[in-house]
Amino acid sequence: MDRKRAMEAVKQFLEAVGEDPSREGLKDTPRRVADMYAELLSGMGRTAEEELSKTFLCEGGDIVIERDIPFSSMCEHHLMPFFGRMAVAYIPDKRVVGLSKLARCVDVCAARLQLQERLTEQVASAIMSYLAPKGVLVWCEAEHTCMTCRGVKKQGSKTVTFVTKGDFPEDKRAQALAIIR
Ligand code: ZN
Repeated sequence: MDRKRAMEAVKQFLEAVGEDPSREGLKDTPRRVADMYAELLSGMGRTAEEELSKTFLCEGGDIVIERDIPFSSMCEHHLMPFFGRMAVAYIPDKRVVGLSKLARCVDVCAARLQLQERLTEQVASAIMSYLAPKGVLVWCEAEHTCMTCRGVKKQGSKTVTFVTKGDFPEDKRAQALAIIR
């Protein structure tokens, strides 16, 4: 990220809304905002390959589910956060990955300008590409601050998305969704 340009843009934005960027409380705001976005968007240009490629041999696993993975991401339409929890269920093809790595994969994909639908898709694709299970199901439930703090102001409303890829039989999908929810 070009921090200098980001800082300049935040300063101009403050001026555009009629603020004085040189006043005490706003003096360091451009730097703080630039630093914050550098962190929030640190998944841009990165993949979860590093996280997901250290796998372990494990014969006979049926379904592995990591649920209630908290995440927050940034809505690309409004530059406002959306946050909630994700779950990853996969059917191993002889290899499994450390459980914390699934959460790290979620973190990498969430740290980009996102849509919830695409975030869900990207987590599923990364797991298919790098861990290569028989099948994967990724489930995501989130509250969008662009919807709860402005516009229709529907506090507490949640958006749910899920994606399955590979071979994830219908009965296993139903079992996994029952556990995840
Ligand atoms: Zn939005």
